[in-house]
Amino acid sequence: MPVPDLIKEGERQMMICNACRYCEGYCAVFPAMEQRRMFTKADLVYLANLCFDCRDCYYACQYAPPHEFGVNIPKLMAELRTETYREYSWPAILSGLLKRNGIAVSLITGGATLLIFILVLLFMGADVLTATHLGEGSFYRVVPYIAMTIPPILIALYGLVVFTIGASRFWRETGAGISDVINFAALWRATRDAFGLAYMKGGGAGCNYPNETFSHSRRLFHHMVFFGFLLDLAATSVAAFYDHFLGWQAPYPVLSWPVVLGTVGGIGLLIGPVGMLYLKWKSDRDPADRNMVTMDVAFLVLLFLTSLTGMLLLIFRDTSAMGMLLVIHLGMVAGFFLTAPYGKFAHVVYRYAALVRYSIEQQRN
Ligand code: SF4
Ligand code: SF4
Repeated sequence: MPVPDLIKEGERQMMICNACRYCEGYCAVFPAMEQRRMFTKADLVYLANLCFDCRDCYYACQYAPPHEFGVNIPKLMAELRTETYREYSWPAILSGLLKRNGIAVSLITGGATLLIFILVLLFMGADVLTATHLGEGSFYRVVPYIAMTIPPILIALYGLVVFTIGASRFWRETGAGISDVINFAALWRATRDAFGLAYMKGGGAGCNYPNETFSHSRRLFHHMVFFGFLLDLAATSVAAFYDHFLGWQAPYPVLSWPVVLGTVGGIGLLIGPVGMLYLKWKSDRDPADRNMVTMDVAFLVLLFLTSLTGMLLLIFRDTSAMGMLLVIHLGMVAGFFLTAPYGKFAHVVYRYAALVRYSIEQQRN
């Protein structure tokens, strides 16, 4: 739906909900909606990013299709979120990556893997890919230290710049000021709600996902993805500290912090994405937006592959398969971080900003 039509439709549905208010106990969207009489684009963008797609309001709604009012809040919010990610992404020319996200993620990840493979062949020779490398620094005999550190730092900094621009555009558009950011109570509440996935609980009984039965399974799998990702990030940070400050080079012993954290996180990132993909596959398509589903699937598949190749690398690191596994794993990691600003990962930034905004509004009331 073109953006102006989407805004009009959003306004129409919010007017109906604001008169009804049956769903006010499910999530933050309805209490935030009740603070408003008119719904501008900025209001709708804000509300859309508060929605966790639990679908409780869809199955509870007496005005949902086939009723002539056609109220379908999860679908509307998902469409608005997709638009948010496109409109606030930077540079504008790359926002198209969000449209055909599955193809974009596949091509960029495949391209990154191929590029690393070619560079290793050119600069290190084919033998390093099939030889067995043992002991400290063995990964650097395939991909040198400088290549393993500088490009990831540059990619991470680029992602940080894109997300900072996106978040500040969101913040400005939704009418909040810079001084509003320095509100520690609001930041704390938003962080607590984000870490606890508070609004995936619906009214307490869980999401109506994948169907009208209440369930906590989506929240559980999402927790595995979220904390799995954080643990893997922690493992990488500890490994970087060991390497750069203590001079201890990977691979590390099985009972070292980087391996333990990485393994636990990796298992979470294997089970979580598979669980979420299964629920998505079984889920009702009527309250879904096709573009958002594509983004979700691309993101979850890439997370799963990144974790799978990381775990295989850990298991086979002392064998001749290590060279190829390292190249493939680095390709997945590069694909993940290169596409993060132009895919589902963006929800982390906008949803958190919306939660902070919501906490500030709640304080004022
Ligand atoms: S989604 Fe339906 S039931 Fe819920 S507040 Fe809106 S109109 Fe009422
Ligand atoms: S889908 Fe869930 S989180 Fe989204 S508006 Fe409805 S009740 Fe709220």
